[in-house]
Amino acid sequence: MTTSQQLFEQAKTHIPGGVNSPVRAFKAVGGTPLFIERSEGAYIFDAEGQRYIDYVLSWGPMLVGHNHPQVREAVIRQCEKGLSFGAPTELETQLADRLCEIMPNMDLVRMVNSGTEATMSAIRLARGYTGRDTIVKFEGCYHGHSDSLLVKAGSGALTLGVPSSPGVPTALADHTLTLTYNDAEGLRRAFAEHGEAIACAIVEPVAGNMNCIPPEPGFLEALREVCTASGAVLILDEVMTGFRFGLQGAQGHYGIEADLTTLGKVIGGGMPVGAFGGKREIMEQIAPLGPVYQAGTLSGNPICMAAGLATLDILSKPGFYDPLFARTALLCEDMEAAAKEAGVPFTTNSAGTMFGGFFTGEPRVTNYQQVMACDTAAFNRFFHGMLAQGVYLAPASYEAGFMSAAHTDADIEATVEAARRVFAGLAA
Ligand code: PLP
Repeated sequence: MTTSQQLFEQAKTHIPGGVNSPVRAFKAVGGTPLFIERSEGAYIFDAEGQRYIDYVLSWGPMLVGHNHPQVREAVIRQCEKGLSFGAPTELETQLADRLCEIMPNMDLVRMVNSGTEATMSAIRLARGYTGRDTIVKFEGCYHGHSDSLLVKAGSGALTLGVPSSPGVPTALADHTLTLTYNDAEGLRRAFAEHGEAIACAIVEPVAGNMNCIPPEPGFLEALREVCTASGAVLILDEVMTGFRFGLQGAQGHYGIEADLTTLGKVIGGGMPVGAFGGKREIMEQIAPLGPVYQAGTLSGNPICMAAGLATLDILSKPGFYDPLFARTALLCEDMEAAAKEAGVPFTTNSAGTMFGGFFTGEPRVTNYQQVMACDTAAFNRFFHGMLAQGVYLAPASYEAGFMSAAHTDADIEATVEAARRVFAGLAA
């Protein structure tokens, strides 16, 4: 038995399934999750001291690399002053000022503790602001685990909500319309029919929870247009994409104006942080300025703010992003070439510092149906092959991969070499 196997058995005694977030259990790929002891730069080390090149990066936050000395020192300095006060601190103002300076379309911002809280609160705010109940989301997009957003669609352009988890009241799901990502026509039809009831549309500007699916030209533009025409609030959920496409998020990259933006992951530099912010007129509806209630005992926690500020300092340095974009594209290109050499049907998507690989014969993957049709058995074999070669990929085929500033050309080369060996095994 490995140390991770022992620790997993022990964990299951008092933690449901042995994990505090389901995907960590390796259920999709089989086998035992690695128990991680420490991290440094591009690497994580398991309980036996085995090193892995990490493309999960704590599910996205560790953009500057694991355990960056500048972030670590900021956290330690702040810890020496106290862990939490439940009263305002200057650090909160500093982070809010930075976010509003950097992000387009953000006049006011409220800090919360997770991405789920950010999207849940943004939706309440949009409903309060518009006085409407219906929300629009897109199939395959994930916005955290709040009730209104845990709704999946059947096939077709438009489905009226079916809860995707027991415990989500159908009455709530009834208020959620699920549309097809990258289908501008379906979007226009749905808004033509239901527009006056729609409080908001929420979307991942680059979908990173059905593997990695960038928006097709015109899709986000159409969404902006129908929201404006119907008076619905457009929420760009940048919990994952925020600061992964340059300083201004995916909205800056694609030139789409958000009414509200949700953030998380990178802005906490590895600490539990989320935020929602946007146009003054809407944000002024939040308590204590307005009637829409939202609160948090630990919101704006000083340690988290210190980690976020230190992270933003690092990624704001000129030239930070260029090598990351180049390495993300290079990794995808070389992996595709390695698969081709081995005769394995495989393609990739990359956008900013996010990427995804698909086991499919199709040249391009642009929607949820195509993602669902990929060969998951091949992915699972690939995942375990890569893990055995010291490369840690997300343990499910529906997750995006992430690049950090700590990954070097040598890490990319080692990853591609590992992939070459694993693809050869798959083809055999
Ligand atoms: N929104 C998006 C786009 C996400 O990717 C996630 C998490 O992966 C969330 C919201 C939820 O964030 P959290 O897990 O911090 O609650």
